[in-house]
Amino acid sequence: DRLVIAIDGPSGSGKSTTARAVARRLGLSYLDTGAMYRAVAVAFLDAGVRPDDTAAVIAATSGAVIELSLDPDESWVRVNGRDVTEQIREPRTAQNVSAVSTIPECRADLVRRQRALMDADPRGCVAEGRDITTVVYPDADVRVLLTASPEARLRRRAGDMAGKLTEEQLRDQVLRRDRDDSKLVEFQTAAEGVHLLDTSDMTPAEVVDAITSLAEE
Ligand code: C5P
Repeated sequence: DRLVIAIDGPSGSGKSTTARAVARRLGLSYLDTGAMYRAVAVAFLDAGVRPDDTAAVIAATSGAVIELSLDPDESWVRVNGRDVTEQIREPRTAQNVSAVSTIPECRADLVRRQRALMDADPRGCVAEGRDITTVVYPDADVRVLLTASPEARLRRRAGDMAGKLTEEQLRDQVLRRDRDDSKLVEFQTAAEGVHLLDTSDMTPAEVVDAITSLAEE
């Protein structure tokens, strides 16, 4: 039987690490939907489009050819034929990604592509993002909303970005993006049928175990 697992949560909730590990353990494909929003941000910035030019951002989104690895053991993203694996993680990309994610037309476009990617593997898929449990794949077999205290999330981001960002840039990335994203999703309350998992005091392995056991129920 196909198995689809949807995982949502804010940045620093540990969702990328755990979603990837769950996919690996269960032999499923892995979709990082945030990487798609980031890839579009890179595309519109490269095209010289200003973030407040809504029509141009929509056009850059629909024109963007996004390819990304669905293999949990491999990580690469290409947009319009160019490898942007590193560039999507740069602060400039993170700072401009809400110019894409706050436009309903851009979301609808990416959501459609995400569903198709999630359906591509006959074994099934683990997808992570902000709206997978509610919008992209509300029929998923397992739906989980990860939360973590702001302190825990800052700590994890600091680990991810070791040495690359100052304390202030980190705060900006995590807390300002929360504010930008809070218009999209209410992170603290899970929709009906969605399991809420507070990972603040859990190790990555414990989170993986918890999600895997939900899948085995
Ligand atoms: O998960 P990640 O931090 O890489 O996501 C980057 C940005 O993409 C988020 O801050 C959010 O604005 C947007 N996003 C979204 N919906 C998703 C995944 C990401 O709006 N499903």
